Amino acid sequence: MNVTGYRPDELKDLIVSLGGKKYSAKQIWNWIYRKSVNDFSLMSDIPAGLREKLKENTGFEKINISGIYESLDGSVKLLLELSDNNSVECVIIPETNRLTLCVSSQAGCRYGCKFCATGKLGFIRNLTASEIVSQILIASDYAQKRITNVVYMGMGEPFDNYDEVIRSADIISDDSGLAVGKRKITISTFGHIDGVKRYIDDDIRYKLAVSLHNPFDRERSSIMPGNKKYGISELFEVLKLYTKKSNRKVVFEYVLIKGFNDTERHAKELIRLLEKLPSKLNLIKYHHLPDENDNNALSEEDTLAFLSRFRRVNFPAVFRKSRGEDIRAACGQLAADHFSERI
Ligand code: SF4
Repeated sequence: MNVTGYRPDELKDLIVSLGGKKYSAKQIWNWIYRKSVNDFSLMSDIPAGLREKLKENTGFEKINISGIYESLDGSVKLLLELSDNNSVECVIIPETNRLTLCVSSQAGCRYGCKFCATGKLGFIRNLTASEIVSQILIASDYAQKRITNVVYMGMGEPFDNYDEVIRSADIISDDSGLAVGKRKITISTFGHIDGVKRYIDDDIRYKLAVSLHNPFDRERSSIMPGNKKYGISELFEVLKLYTKKSNRKVVFEYVLIKGFNDTERHAKELIRLLEKLPSKLNLIKYHHLPDENDNNALSEEDTLAFLSRFRRVNFPAVFRKSRGEDIRAACGQLAADHFSERI
């Protein structure tokens, strides 16, 4: 395993097993996560013998930035080439008081959502925790700023790669390293019920977002095939448990698709469902894929009309401004450029 895949305690064990002192683990952690050093040779306060052993037993990810796409709105998409030549994308999103990184958890995705370019790629492989952590290191190095918020909303379904995703979140949230606040880390799932159940059984540490996109099973399954396995009522039963145990809200994401999920009937059913548990709703613009025209997106007027249905009953709903649409970095667009010949 590469060194950025170790939790702090595991790194300590590794160092001791290599004949080093426990405090060297702290120093190495500091070099990697506070001083952005990714070469054991440069860790000058670590004994030379230990550095050699570290080189023999672990290493750093070999990830190249193979594309940089800068949006007019300030967000930046990085195309990253992994050591086995697979590629993934992550997106840096600057906002007034924070710098958010949208990370990928898999190369491709097996769930095939119709509005998602990554889904069209199919599943290639899971990323390791080390590869996920490296996205934060690379992005913060590129931006020359600390990443304050991380959302697992890039390529892949995070709960389909549960262990590595949770491991990576534990590493980036460690206070002595990257120190991304636990409440500033959001794991976003399409509704992977087995994953949510595991998450509830584990000690819940991070925020949870669910991509809903339609409140009716048959319609939802038509754009999100994963819904055939995990239906809406079972999903809400599990989410109810989540909110009870965690005392937290669920954030629901809802891409507005003209004529498909934007009617009074949809709004009413959404309110009925979402009022069952502490939650809030983010409405998102539909971003068309390369082979589509943009007829599926709602006009601003229709979006506000849909939003007003929630405002009328005081349900917390907002329209989330798209970021990076011009560089195909917005919701559903990752993989749309570099992988266009494969989707
Ligand atoms: S929306 Fe998420 S779960 Fe669906 S295909 Fe895309 S990456 Fe996979």
